[in-house]
Amino acid sequence: MQIKVPKEIQIGTLIYKVYLDESLDDAEYDGSAFHSKLQIRINPAIPDARKALSLLHEIIHTFSKPFDVFPNDREINLLSTALGEFLFNNLGIEFDWSDIPTMKLVIEETQR
Ligand SMILES: [Zn+2]
Repeated sequence: MQIKVPKEIQIGTLIYKVYLDESLDDAEYDGSAFHSKLQIRINPAIPDARKALSLLHEIIHTFSKPFDVFPNDREINLLSTALGEFLFNNLGIEFDWSDIPTMKLVIEETQR
């Protein structure tokens, strides 16, 4: 079952925008959470299975501020992999990224 990744994800009272960011590939990052900008950015160059895990990983990072929990990256990897196992392997969910803008398009849009 395909589920569209939403452009915005509400975490507590905060709303994070989701982007595909090509510059992450140069830095060899799968994803990143920019808390000051309320953005979750995912590397579009990696395989979809890694994109999906990366999104879960970055979402767990965003829990830190509103829920006052600060797991380290190893703990986040355990949680995101376990959650991914359930969502993807047991429920058969696949993420559809077609609604998610790339950072390049975002820059072009703001220059208009
Ligand atoms: Zn991390």
